[in-house]
Amino acid sequence: MITTRAGSQASPFPTEMAMIAASETGVLRIDLDAIAANWRALARWVAPADCGAVVKADAYGLGVARVLPALAAAGCGTFFVATPREAAEARSLDGRARIFVLDGLFPGATDDILAAAAIPCLASLAEVEEWSAHARRIGARLAAALHVDSGLHRLGLTVVEVQRLAARPELLDALDVVLVMSHLAAADDPADPANAVQFQVFERLRGMLPNAPASLAASDGLMLGADFHFDLVRPGYALYGGQAFQGEQAPVSAAVSLFARVLQVRDVEVGGAVGYSGAWRALRPSRIATLAAGYADGYARAASAATGTTGGSVVIHGVRLPIVGRVSMDLITVDVTDCPVRVERGHVAELIGPSLTMETAGAGMRTIGYEVLTRLGQRMQRVYVGGGA
Ligand SMILES: *Cc1c(COP(=O)(O)O)cnc(C)c1O
Repeated sequence: MITTRAGSQASPFPTEMAMIAASETGVLRIDLDAIAANWRALARWVAPADCGAVVKADAYGLGVARVLPALAAAGCGTFFVATPREAAEARSLDGRARIFVLDGLFPGATDDILAAAAIPCLASLAEVEEWSAHARRIGARLAAALHVDSGLHRLGLTVVEVQRLAARPELLDALDVVLVMSHLAAADDPADPANAVQFQVFERLRGMLPNAPASLAASDGLMLGADFHFDLVRPGYALYGGQAFQGEQAPVSAAVSLFARVLQVRDVEVGGAVGYSGAWRALRPSRIATLAAGYADGYARAASAATGTTGGSVVIHGVRLPIVGRVSMDLITVDVTDCPVRVERGHVAELIGPSLTMETAGAGMRTIGYEVLTRLGQRMQRVYVGGGA
């Protein structure tokens, strides 16, 4: 049973108030000023290297239409998206920024990428050939990033492909290589020797390619030290307040919070079962609060707790309280017996926020903060704070 205080300082968000509109289950609060401040802090951290922003997957689910302009206003001029369609949307939001497509060049997608004036992160010799052939066809020099595989074995030119490319320099004649990039596999753990190995492989591969600005680090990689910054860093998760890095604290603060209303509170006697399949039974007289959030809101069912097991937790009145029973589509049940303030209908529970990080919420759902963040559903009211909102 979790009864620890959530933190010494009180949550800046009151938990009994009319912050949730009467017809809404809860509120996803996205602080655009905090996201902009996080970008500025990371930009200062990595200077003189440049700092981009990763806004793929609808800015990690937060709404690229709001997040991208806020970052651009903060001074960010380089954005990374995953797909051509995301590039088109990013371009519609910013006519001037550099937009890189991380998934590379899909077969036949040259026109879509050019229409978005985006730059593909070419990840194989086949992609280099297709982009280069298109450049010759239209008689233009096309900007390109070269994505090399330094050990993640997911995307990127292999060592052999880089060697082949080095032996056929004419393939790059029609291209303007504006970035050579790679991605780290274990940057969240500064003690993992894979980081130094990938660093060395990246250096070696880069040495075989035309001299161009380089980029290796995302949110965690940029915390591994100045060596890893190269010319450009590509944080995503940290901009949104994520802290997956297991070493030093990144210079960012929380930007996302999720609150759900308490619908009912009931007394359950010893032996009483709570939720589907009666997976959790009260071992003592218990007070159970039912919250208006569930897996349809992106709150994973894996946060469920059967009798004697620990699942996820929420914060009510500044106190961490355990989820009990199954998380269902629209509802979560929480054991509020140990809350010193009597929990009532109309009170508000913090599911993510200053006293309950995305990492903690993710651990409660047997996953990572990234997955929690990107799955937060559309059902809850979204409130944007700052950013000229
Ligand atoms: C998603 C992604 C990033 C951003 O990663 P974060 O951990 O969210 O900072 C950077 N580079 C590549 C290649 C990615 O796929």
